[in-house]
Amino acid sequence: MNSNPKAAGGETFTAGKQCVAIVLAAGRGTRMNSDIPKQYLPVKGKPVLYYALKAFQDSFIDRIILVTSGDDVEYCKKNIVEHFNFHKVSDVVAGGKERYHSVQEGLKAAAECDYIFIHDGARPFVTEEILQRAYACVSKYDACVVGMPVKDTIKIADEDGFADSTPKRDYVWMIQTPQVFSEKLIRDAYKTLMEKEEDILRRGIRITDDAMVVETFTDRKVKLTEGSYENIKITTPEDLQVAESFLARIFNEV
Ligand code: C5P
Repeated sequence: MNSNPKAAGGETFTAGKQCVAIVLAAGRGTRMNSDIPKQYLPVKGKPVLYYALKAFQDSFIDRIILVTSGDDVEYCKKNIVEHFNFHKVSDVVAGGKERYHSVQEGLKAAAECDYIFIHDGARPFVTEEILQRAYACVSKYDACVVGMPVKDTIKIADEDGFADSTPKRDYVWMIQTPQVFSEKLIRDAYKTLMEKEEDILRRGIRITDDAMVVETFTDRKVKLTEGSYENIKITTPEDLQVAESFLARIFNEV
């Protein structure tokens, strides 16, 4: 699948700027009902996490920081990074309680660079094409997240489970990763988040992605660019079946 980074014209794509990826795999995945965290469950014989790392390894990205739970750091170094020879992984670090804590740990480990690509390790179907689109977007706007326009009508529910409002579908996107930012912007945004964490918690705000951190704590607007409808996050058992079928098709195509 994700072989050499080829540009649209067929030549090898070179980013020109230093790009670091933070791949997040420190979640517990309680919605999977499995003792094994979802990022290590096998799909077509390889752990879910393998596929995202493979995509970054084979791309124009210069370095990868892998964030896992503290207990899994050694396991990942040996059984994933060394085993699959992911030589772009420069660090495997322990994450934190919430996703944004894990990102913060990844940022601490990331050396100086131009752009930081933050990616959910539970999204195996990120491709070179998506990475290049995100790179083009961040080069222009400094803050870019991939996503797709929704196909279904979305309702905002009230606390009692009644439909409260219906946003105009043309403007509703489901957001994926990678989420990509210029280094200074994302570091500044996360610094402010950590300083204001108590206040955020007190107000009941739940930080679920990186764009939200930039939207909340900086005056930069975040540009949306297309990922793909296949760039799913493995969250529940049925997602694993979908992933198996995507991979079966991808491998048959090669
Ligand atoms: O929980 P959610 O599905 O939103 O997690 C998205 C990604 O963030 C997953 O790849 C998960 O492993 C990661 N994560 C993390 N640290 C946490 C929670 C989630 O690295 N504390």
